[in-house]
Amino acid sequence: MIRKYPSALLENAVNEFAKLPGIGRKTALRLVLHSLNRSPEEVEAFGQAMIELRNEVNYCRVCHNISDDDVCQICSDFSRDAALICVVENIKEVMAIENTGQFRGLYHVLGGIISPMDGIGPKDLQIESLVERVKSGGVNELIFALSSTMEGDTTNFYIYRKLSETGVKMSIISRGIAIGDEIEYADEITLGRSILNRTNFVDTLKL
Ligand SMILES: [Zn+2]
Repeated sequence: MIRKYPSALLENAVNEFAKLPGIGRKTALRLVLHSLNRSPEEVEAFGQAMIELRNEVNYCRVCHNISDDDVCQICSDFSRDAALICVVENIKEVMAIENTGQFRGLYHVLGGIISPMDGIGPKDLQIESLVERVKSGGVNELIFALSSTMEGDTTNFYIYRKLSETGVKMSIISRGIAIGDEIEYADEITLGRSILNRTNFVDTLKL
């Protein structure tokens, strides 16, 4: 454990890196020392990219995926099937599913899942906009691709209850593979197959 730094500037920079997920103080120090070996222009470009990302980030007003435009590239691609919407927690799941090249529908990014323990309720997520999206018509099927945790199940069921009267078909990606935190690590073939081999959500409810 490093306690003493020869410079407050160094310590400050280490503190900032150490706030990042998965970065301990040892790694933070290594990254900071590495930054010192880079040219001032390179470090400035790094800092600038972070500042611009944070200040100028924009979300698609349809699916809430990250986007440089008002409507993202996926939503504005008319060769995709707009009647099929895959419901995911976060942007990284969109990226993982896009990498499979197996899905030609659109997405809806909730921005998390219902988790009372963390104080996250339906109002904190993009659920109402999903309900409106379905009710405005043109959607035939929703595919739930959330974590296979209690929170994921709760969220699926909440959406199901909100939309069951609309008659929209709701399905869930096959549970053979781990979803959620592992979705980005699932190999592309398995993930692609789990979307193709989805099951009717109602059948998974033990009524
Ligand atoms: Zn979009």
